[in-house]
Amino acid sequence: MSSSQIPVAVLGATGSVGQRFVSLLDNHPWFKVVALAASDRSVGQKYSQAARWVLDDPMPAYARDMVVVPASTDCIDAKIVSSALHTEIANEVEPQFARAGAAVGLKSAAYRRGEDVPLLLPEINADHIQLIKHQRQNKGWSGCIVTNPNCTSTGLTIALKALDTAFGVKKVIAVSLQALSGARYPGISSLDIMDNIIPNVANGGEEEKVEWEPRKMLGKFNENRIELADITFSAHTNRVAVIDGHTVCASVKMNEPVEPEVAIQALRDFQAQATARDLPSAPRPVIEVRDEADRPQPRLDRLAGKGMTTVVGRVRRDPILDLKFVVLSHNTIRGAAGASIYNAELLVNENLL
Ligand code: NAP
Repeated sequence: MSSSQIPVAVLGATGSVGQRFVSLLDNHPWFKVVALAASDRSVGQKYSQAARWVLDDPMPAYARDMVVVPASTDCIDAKIVSSALHTEIANEVEPQFARAGAAVGLKSAAYRRGEDVPLLLPEINADHIQLIKHQRQNKGWSGCIVTNPNCTSTGLTIALKALDTAFGVKKVIAVSLQALSGARYPGISSLDIMDNIIPNVANGGEEEKVEWEPRKMLGKFNENRIELADITFSAHTNRVAVIDGHTVCASVKMNEPVEPEVAIQALRDFQAQATARDLPSAPRPVIEVRDEADRPQPRLDRLAGKGMTTVVGRVRRDPILDLKFVVLSHNTIRGAAGASIYNAELLVNENLL
Protein backbone atom coordinates (compact mmCIF):
# COMPACT_ATOMS: atom_id res chain seq x y z
CA MET A 1 0.00 0.00 0.00
CA SER A 2 1.41 3.40 -0.90
CA SER A 3 1.79 5.68 2.13
CA SER A 4 -0.82 8.05 0.72
CA GLN A 5 -3.54 5.40 0.38
CA ILE A 6 -6.25 5.19 3.01
CA PRO A 7 -7.02 1.74 4.48
CA VAL A 8 -10.60 0.56 3.87
CA ALA A 9 -12.51 -2.46 5.18
CA VAL A 10 -15.60 -3.95 3.54
CA LEU A 11 -18.20 -5.50 5.86
CA GLY A 12 -20.57 -7.99 4.25
CA ALA A 13 -17.96 -8.37 1.50
CA THR A 14 -19.27 -11.67 0.16
CA GLY A 15 -22.84 -10.42 -0.49
CA SER A 16 -24.12 -8.81 -3.67
CA VAL A 17 -23.48 -5.22 -2.53
CA GLY A 18 -20.20 -6.29 -0.87
CA GLN A 19 -19.02 -7.67 -4.19
CA ARG A 20 -19.71 -4.32 -5.83
CA PHE A 21 -17.51 -2.67 -3.17
CA VAL A 22 -14.73 -5.15 -3.85
CA SER A 23 -15.01 -4.52 -7.58
CA LEU A 24 -15.28 -0.71 -7.43
CA LEU A 25 -12.38 -0.42 -4.96
CA ASP A 26 -10.02 -2.26 -7.32
CA ASN A 27 -7.28 0.24 -8.24
CA HIS A 28 -9.05 3.08 -6.44
CA PRO A 29 -6.70 6.10 -6.53
CA TRP A 30 -7.15 6.99 -2.82
CA PHE A 31 -8.28 3.80 -1.06
CA LYS A 32 -6.74 0.40 -0.39
CA VAL A 33 -8.79 -2.57 0.82
CA VAL A 34 -7.14 -4.06 3.91
CA ALA A 35 -9.94 -6.29 5.24
CA LEU A 36 -12.91 -8.22 3.86
CA ALA A 37 -15.40 -9.25 6.55
CA ALA A 38 -18.43 -11.53 6.48
CA SER A 39 -20.32 -14.01 8.68
CA ASP A 40 -19.04 -17.10 10.49
CA ARG A 41 -19.94 -19.06 7.35
CA SER A 42 -17.09 -17.35 5.48
CA VAL A 43 -14.55 -16.38 8.15
CA GLY A 44 -11.17 -18.09 7.70
CA GLN A 45 -11.73 -18.89 4.03
CA LYS A 46 -10.03 -17.20 1.11
CA TYR A 47 -12.37 -14.62 -0.42
CA SER A 48 -12.41 -16.55 -3.72
CA GLN A 49 -13.79 -19.59 -1.86
CA ALA A 50 -16.22 -17.74 0.38
CA ALA A 51 -17.82 -15.43 -2.20
CA ARG A 52 -20.11 -16.83 -4.86
CA TRP A 53 -19.18 -14.15 -7.40
CA VAL A 54 -22.23 -12.80 -9.24
CA LEU A 55 -20.87 -9.76 -11.12
CA ASP A 56 -20.06 -9.67 -14.85
CA ASP A 57 -16.57 -8.26 -14.17
CA PRO A 58 -14.11 -10.87 -12.87
CA MET A 59 -13.23 -10.96 -9.17
CA PRO A 60 -10.30 -8.52 -8.73
CA ALA A 61 -6.94 -10.23 -8.27
CA TYR A 62 -6.19 -8.34 -5.04
CA ALA A 63 -9.20 -9.90 -3.28
CA ARG A 64 -8.89 -13.54 -4.32
CA ASP A 65 -6.42 -14.67 -1.64
CA MET A 66 -7.46 -12.31 1.15
CA VAL A 67 -8.72 -14.30 4.13
CA VAL A 68 -12.23 -13.29 5.26
CA VAL A 69 -12.31 -11.91 8.83
CA PRO A 70 -15.13 -11.31 11.35
CA ALA A 71 -16.83 -7.89 11.25
CA SER A 72 -15.19 -6.85 14.51
CA THR A 73 -13.00 -3.97 15.64
CA ASP A 74 -10.68 -6.58 17.20
CA CYS A 75 -9.78 -7.88 13.75
CA ILE A 76 -9.99 -4.77 11.57
CA ASP A 77 -7.91 -1.61 11.60
CA ALA A 78 -9.19 0.73 8.88
CA LYS A 79 -9.87 4.47 8.59
CA ILE A 80 -12.91 3.85 6.38
CA VAL A 81 -15.40 1.03 6.81
CA SER A 82 -17.76 0.37 3.92
CA SER A 83 -20.64 -1.63 5.21
CA ALA A 84 -23.00 -3.86 3.23
CA LEU A 85 -24.53 -5.55 6.25
CA HIS A 86 -28.22 -6.12 6.77
CA THR A 87 -29.94 -3.74 9.16
CA GLU A 88 -30.19 -6.08 12.13
CA ILE A 89 -26.43 -6.79 12.15
CA ALA A 90 -25.54 -3.25 11.10
CA ASN A 91 -27.31 -1.83 14.16
CA GLU A 92 -24.96 -3.71 16.43
CA VAL A 93 -21.66 -3.62 14.55
CA GLU A 94 -21.43 -0.23 12.86
CA PRO A 95 -21.40 2.03 15.94
CA GLN A 96 -18.54 -0.04 17.33
CA PHE A 97 -16.40 0.98 14.35
CA ALA A 98 -17.43 4.65 14.64
CA ARG A 99 -16.52 4.53 18.34
CA ALA A 100 -13.15 3.04 17.40
CA GLY A 101 -12.48 6.05 15.16
CA ALA A 102 -13.47 4.82 11.71
CA ALA A 103 -15.67 6.65 9.22
CA VAL A 104 -18.44 4.17 8.53
CA GLY A 105 -20.34 4.45 5.28
CA LEU A 106 -23.42 2.36 5.18
CA LYS A 107 -26.02 1.04 2.94
CA SER A 108 -28.49 -0.36 5.40
CA ALA A 109 -31.49 1.72 6.46
CA ALA A 110 -30.43 1.55 10.11
CA TYR A 111 -29.35 5.18 10.67
CA ARG A 112 -30.83 7.18 7.79
CA ARG A 113 -33.37 8.95 9.97
CA GLY A 114 -30.87 9.89 12.67
CA GLU A 115 -31.01 13.66 13.28
CA ASP A 116 -27.21 13.89 13.39
CA VAL A 117 -26.59 11.40 10.55
CA PRO A 118 -26.00 12.73 7.03
CA LEU A 119 -28.06 11.01 4.33
CA LEU A 120 -25.89 11.90 1.41
CA LEU A 121 -25.84 12.17 -2.34
CA PRO A 122 -22.82 14.42 -2.93
CA GLU A 123 -24.31 15.66 -6.21
CA ILE A 124 -27.14 17.35 -4.35
CA ASN A 125 -26.48 17.77 -0.63
CA ALA A 126 -22.73 17.66 -0.05
CA ASP A 127 -23.22 20.42 2.55
CA HIS A 128 -25.16 17.99 4.81
CA ILE A 129 -21.87 16.26 5.58
CA GLN A 130 -21.23 18.97 8.15
CA LEU A 131 -23.74 17.16 10.40
CA ILE A 132 -20.85 14.88 11.28
CA LYS A 133 -19.36 17.54 13.55
CA HIS A 134 -22.61 17.58 15.49
CA GLN A 135 -22.73 13.76 15.52
CA ARG A 136 -19.22 13.55 16.96
CA GLN A 137 -20.16 15.95 19.74
CA ASN A 138 -23.42 14.10 20.48
CA LYS A 139 -21.96 10.63 20.48
CA GLY A 140 -18.52 11.43 21.83
CA TRP A 141 -16.81 9.29 19.19
CA SER A 142 -13.97 10.24 16.87
CA GLY A 143 -15.31 8.25 13.93
CA CYS A 144 -18.65 8.86 12.26
CA ILE A 145 -21.59 7.28 10.51
CA VAL A 146 -22.60 8.49 7.06
CA THR A 147 -25.48 6.92 5.13
CA ASN A 148 -26.58 6.77 1.54
CA PRO A 149 -30.23 6.51 0.58
CA ASN A 150 -32.38 3.62 -0.45
CA CYS A 151 -31.56 2.62 -4.04
CA THR A 152 -35.02 3.63 -5.32
CA SER A 153 -34.86 7.09 -3.72
CA THR A 154 -31.44 7.75 -5.27
CA GLY A 155 -32.08 8.55 -8.97
CA LEU A 156 -35.48 10.05 -8.23
CA THR A 157 -34.02 12.51 -5.69
CA ILE A 158 -31.20 13.58 -8.00
CA ALA A 159 -33.67 14.40 -10.81
CA LEU A 160 -35.97 16.16 -8.34
CA LYS A 161 -33.10 18.28 -7.02
CA ALA A 162 -32.50 19.69 -10.49
CA LEU A 163 -36.20 20.52 -10.86
CA ASP A 164 -36.60 21.80 -7.30
CA THR A 165 -33.61 24.12 -7.65
CA ALA A 166 -34.95 25.58 -10.90
CA PHE A 167 -38.73 25.68 -10.29
CA GLY A 168 -39.67 24.43 -6.80
CA VAL A 169 -41.31 21.02 -6.38
CA LYS A 170 -44.53 20.62 -4.33
CA LYS A 171 -45.86 17.07 -4.90
CA VAL A 172 -44.49 13.84 -6.35
CA ILE A 173 -46.22 10.60 -7.32
CA ALA A 174 -43.63 7.89 -8.00
CA VAL A 175 -44.07 4.35 -9.33
CA SER A 176 -40.97 2.14 -9.18
CA LEU A 177 -39.97 -0.87 -11.31
CA GLN A 178 -37.20 -2.37 -9.21
CA ALA A 179 -34.52 -4.84 -10.21
CA LEU A 180 -34.02 -8.28 -8.68
CA SER A 181 -30.50 -7.59 -7.44
CA GLY A 182 -32.10 -5.31 -4.86
CA ALA A 183 -33.63 -8.37 -3.21
CA ARG A 184 -30.36 -9.99 -2.01
CA TYR A 185 -28.85 -13.10 -3.58
CA PRO A 186 -30.38 -15.53 -4.63
CA GLY A 187 -33.37 -13.23 -4.38
CA ILE A 188 -36.91 -13.97 -5.43
CA SER A 189 -37.84 -17.41 -6.72
CA SER A 190 -37.89 -17.58 -10.54
CA LEU A 191 -41.38 -19.07 -10.38
CA ASP A 192 -42.56 -15.97 -8.53
CA ILE A 193 -40.97 -13.32 -10.77
CA MET A 194 -40.88 -14.72 -14.34
CA ASP A 195 -43.89 -13.58 -16.37
CA ASN A 196 -44.82 -11.44 -13.41
CA ILE A 197 -44.64 -8.18 -11.42
CA ILE A 198 -44.76 -8.17 -7.63
CA PRO A 199 -46.51 -5.00 -6.43
CA ASN A 200 -44.84 -4.95 -3.02
CA VAL A 201 -41.20 -4.47 -2.00
CA ALA A 202 -39.95 -5.14 1.53
CA ASN A 203 -43.51 -5.62 2.80
CA GLY A 204 -44.38 -2.02 2.11
CA GLY A 205 -41.30 -0.64 3.90
CA GLU A 206 -39.82 0.51 0.60
CA GLU A 207 -42.64 2.97 -0.01
CA GLU A 208 -42.11 4.67 3.33
CA LYS A 209 -38.43 5.12 2.48
CA VAL A 210 -39.16 6.60 -0.95
CA GLU A 211 -41.72 8.95 0.59
CA TRP A 212 -39.42 10.19 3.38
CA GLU A 213 -35.75 10.02 2.35
CA PRO A 214 -35.95 12.55 -0.53
CA ARG A 215 -37.41 15.08 1.92
CA LYS A 216 -34.31 14.83 4.10
CA MET A 217 -31.91 15.04 1.16
CA LEU A 218 -33.77 17.92 -0.45
CA GLY A 219 -34.04 19.63 2.93
CA LYS A 220 -31.97 22.61 4.12
CA PHE A 221 -28.95 22.23 6.39
CA ASN A 222 -29.57 24.75 9.14
CA GLU A 223 -26.84 24.93 11.79
CA ASN A 224 -27.06 21.53 13.46
CA ARG A 225 -30.07 20.03 11.75
CA ILE A 226 -31.83 19.34 8.50
CA GLU A 227 -35.19 20.99 7.82
CA LEU A 228 -37.19 18.47 5.80
CA ALA A 229 -38.27 19.72 2.37
CA ASP A 230 -41.94 20.65 2.23
CA ILE A 231 -42.80 18.20 -0.57
CA THR A 232 -45.56 15.57 -0.45
CA PHE A 233 -44.69 12.15 -1.84
CA SER A 234 -46.81 9.16 -2.77
CA ALA A 235 -44.91 6.02 -3.85
CA HIS A 236 -45.88 2.65 -5.34
CA THR A 237 -42.98 0.18 -5.38
CA ASN A 238 -42.88 -2.91 -7.62
CA ARG A 239 -40.40 -5.72 -8.23
CA VAL A 240 -39.88 -6.63 -11.90
CA ALA A 241 -37.84 -9.22 -13.81
CA VAL A 242 -34.81 -6.99 -14.46
CA ILE A 243 -31.41 -7.95 -13.01
CA ASP A 244 -29.90 -4.49 -12.33
CA GLY A 245 -31.24 -0.95 -12.60
CA HIS A 246 -34.20 0.62 -10.81
CA THR A 247 -36.65 2.62 -12.95
CA VAL A 248 -39.04 5.17 -11.47
CA CYS A 249 -41.95 6.81 -13.34
CA ALA A 250 -42.66 10.14 -11.66
CA SER A 251 -45.34 12.83 -11.93
CA VAL A 252 -44.50 16.15 -10.31
CA LYS A 253 -46.39 19.27 -9.25
CA MET A 254 -44.23 22.40 -9.35
CA ASN A 255 -44.69 25.83 -7.84
CA GLU A 256 -46.03 26.80 -11.27
CA PRO A 257 -46.40 24.91 -14.58
CA VAL A 258 -43.18 24.40 -16.51
CA GLU A 259 -42.82 23.57 -20.21
CA PRO A 260 -41.11 20.18 -20.76
CA GLU A 261 -38.38 21.76 -22.93
CA VAL A 262 -37.54 24.17 -20.10
CA ALA A 263 -37.44 21.32 -17.57
CA ILE A 264 -35.18 19.28 -19.87
CA GLN A 265 -32.77 22.21 -20.09
CA ALA A 266 -32.76 22.53 -16.27
CA LEU A 267 -32.00 18.80 -15.92
CA ARG A 268 -29.16 19.07 -18.45
CA ASP A 269 -27.75 22.24 -16.88
CA PHE A 270 -27.88 20.93 -13.31
CA GLN A 271 -24.56 21.61 -11.62
CA ALA A 272 -23.86 19.19 -8.85
CA GLN A 273 -22.73 20.59 -5.49
CA ALA A 274 -19.77 18.23 -5.44
CA THR A 275 -18.73 18.62 -9.09
CA ALA A 276 -16.15 21.27 -8.33
CA ARG A 277 -14.40 18.88 -5.95
CA ASP A 278 -13.67 16.46 -8.80
CA LEU A 279 -14.00 13.31 -6.67
CA PRO A 280 -12.92 10.04 -8.35
CA SER A 281 -16.43 8.48 -8.25
CA ALA A 282 -18.33 11.63 -9.22
CA PRO A 283 -20.85 10.84 -11.96
CA ARG A 284 -19.92 12.30 -15.31
CA PRO A 285 -22.44 13.63 -16.27
CA VAL A 286 -24.60 13.84 -13.14
CA ILE A 287 -27.81 13.60 -15.19
CA GLU A 288 -28.11 12.36 -18.74
CA VAL A 289 -31.35 13.26 -20.53
CA ARG A 290 -32.38 10.88 -23.32
CA ASP A 291 -34.46 12.27 -26.18
CA GLU A 292 -35.72 8.94 -27.57
CA ALA A 293 -39.35 8.07 -26.89
CA ASP A 294 -38.42 4.67 -25.42
CA ARG A 295 -35.50 5.48 -23.10
CA PRO A 296 -34.19 5.08 -20.44
CA GLN A 297 -34.17 1.29 -20.40
CA PRO A 298 -32.35 -0.72 -17.70
CA ARG A 299 -30.39 -2.95 -20.09
CA LEU A 300 -29.22 -0.06 -22.29
CA ASP A 301 -28.75 2.77 -19.79
CA ARG A 302 -27.87 1.40 -16.34
CA LEU A 303 -24.12 1.64 -16.95
CA ALA A 304 -24.18 5.30 -18.04
CA GLY A 305 -21.25 7.10 -16.38
CA LYS A 306 -19.91 3.73 -15.10
CA GLY A 307 -23.22 3.17 -13.33
CA MET A 308 -23.07 6.49 -11.43
CA THR A 309 -25.06 8.72 -13.82
CA THR A 310 -28.79 9.25 -13.35
CA VAL A 311 -30.61 8.81 -16.66
CA VAL A 312 -33.85 10.71 -17.30
CA GLY A 313 -36.19 10.44 -20.28
CA ARG A 314 -39.77 10.89 -21.48
CA VAL A 315 -40.01 14.36 -19.94
CA ARG A 316 -43.50 15.53 -20.84
CA ARG A 317 -46.57 17.38 -19.63
CA ASP A 318 -48.69 15.72 -16.95
CA PRO A 319 -52.39 16.56 -17.37
CA ILE A 320 -53.12 16.24 -13.63
CA LEU A 321 -49.87 17.44 -12.04
CA ASP A 322 -47.40 19.50 -14.13
CA LEU A 323 -44.66 17.28 -15.49
CA LYS A 324 -43.88 13.58 -15.79
CA PHE A 325 -40.69 11.67 -16.59
CA VAL A 326 -38.89 8.35 -16.24
CA VAL A 327 -35.66 8.07 -14.25
CA LEU A 328 -33.22 5.17 -14.05
CA SER A 329 -30.23 4.50 -11.83
CA HIS A 330 -28.06 1.47 -11.16
CA ASN A 331 -29.18 0.06 -7.82
CA THR A 332 -26.02 -1.70 -6.68
CA ILE A 333 -23.60 0.97 -8.05
CA ARG A 334 -25.14 4.48 -7.70
CA GLY A 335 -27.74 3.10 -5.28
CA ALA A 336 -25.36 1.17 -3.02
CA ALA A 337 -21.60 0.50 -3.21
CA GLY A 338 -20.68 3.35 -5.58
CA ALA A 339 -22.69 5.67 -3.34
CA SER A 340 -20.77 4.75 -0.18
CA ILE A 341 -17.41 5.10 -1.92
CA TYR A 342 -18.41 8.51 -3.33
CA ASN A 343 -19.46 9.61 0.18
CA ALA A 344 -16.13 8.42 1.60
CA GLU A 345 -14.31 10.48 -1.03
CA LEU A 346 -16.31 13.53 0.04
CA LEU A 347 -15.29 12.92 3.67
CA VAL A 348 -11.62 12.81 2.67
CA ASN A 349 -12.01 15.92 0.54
CA GLU A 350 -13.61 17.79 3.46
CA ASN A 351 -10.85 16.66 5.88
CA LEU A 352 -13.46 14.93 8.03
CA LEU A 353 -11.83 11.50 8.39
P1 NAP B 1 -26.48 -10.26 0.89
O1 NAP B 1 -26.17 -10.60 -0.51
O2 NAP B 1 -27.42 -11.11 1.65
O3 NAP B 1 -25.09 -10.18 1.73
C1 NAP B 1 -25.05 -10.04 3.13
C2 NAP B 1 -23.60 -10.00 3.59
O4 NAP B 1 -23.58 -9.84 5.02
C3 NAP B 1 -22.79 -11.25 3.28
O5 NAP B 1 -21.45 -10.88 3.02
C4 NAP B 1 -22.86 -12.02 4.58
O6 NAP B 1 -21.76 -12.92 4.78
C5 NAP B 1 -22.75 -10.88 5.58
N1 NAP B 1 -23.23 -11.23 6.91
C6 NAP B 1 -24.36 -11.86 7.26
N2 NAP B 1 -24.42 -12.02 8.60
C7 NAP B 1 -23.29 -11.46 9.10
C8 NAP B 1 -22.75 -11.31 10.42
N3 NAP B 1 -23.40 -11.75 11.51
N4 NAP B 1 -21.55 -10.70 10.55
C9 NAP B 1 -20.87 -10.25 9.47
N5 NAP B 1 -21.33 -10.38 8.20
C10 NAP B 1 -22.52 -10.97 8.02
O7 NAP B 1 -27.07 -8.77 0.99
P2 NAP B 1 -26.94 -7.53 -0.05
O8 NAP B 1 -27.97 -7.63 -1.14
O9 NAP B 1 -25.50 -7.38 -0.42
O10 NAP B 1 -27.44 -6.30 0.86
C11 NAP B 1 -26.62 -5.76 1.89
C12 NAP B 1 -27.23 -4.48 2.44
O11 NAP B 1 -27.33 -3.53 1.40
C13 NAP B 1 -28.65 -4.64 2.98
O12 NAP B 1 -28.83 -3.80 4.10
C14 NAP B 1 -29.52 -4.21 1.83
O13 NAP B 1 -30.78 -3.75 2.26
C15 NAP B 1 -28.69 -3.09 1.27
N6 NAP B 1 -28.93 -2.76 -0.14
C16 NAP B 1 -28.91 -3.68 -1.10
C17 NAP B 1 -29.09 -3.24 -2.43
C18 NAP B 1 -29.09 -4.16 -3.56
O14 NAP B 1 -29.40 -3.66 -4.66
N7 NAP B 1 -28.77 -5.44 -3.37
C19 NAP B 1 -29.25 -1.91 -2.73
C20 NAP B 1 -29.26 -1.05 -1.72
C21 NAP B 1 -29.10 -1.48 -0.46
P3 NAP B 1 -21.83 -14.49 4.40
O15 NAP B 1 -21.69 -14.56 2.89
O16 NAP B 1 -20.66 -15.04 5.11
O17 NAP B 1 -23.15 -15.01 4.88
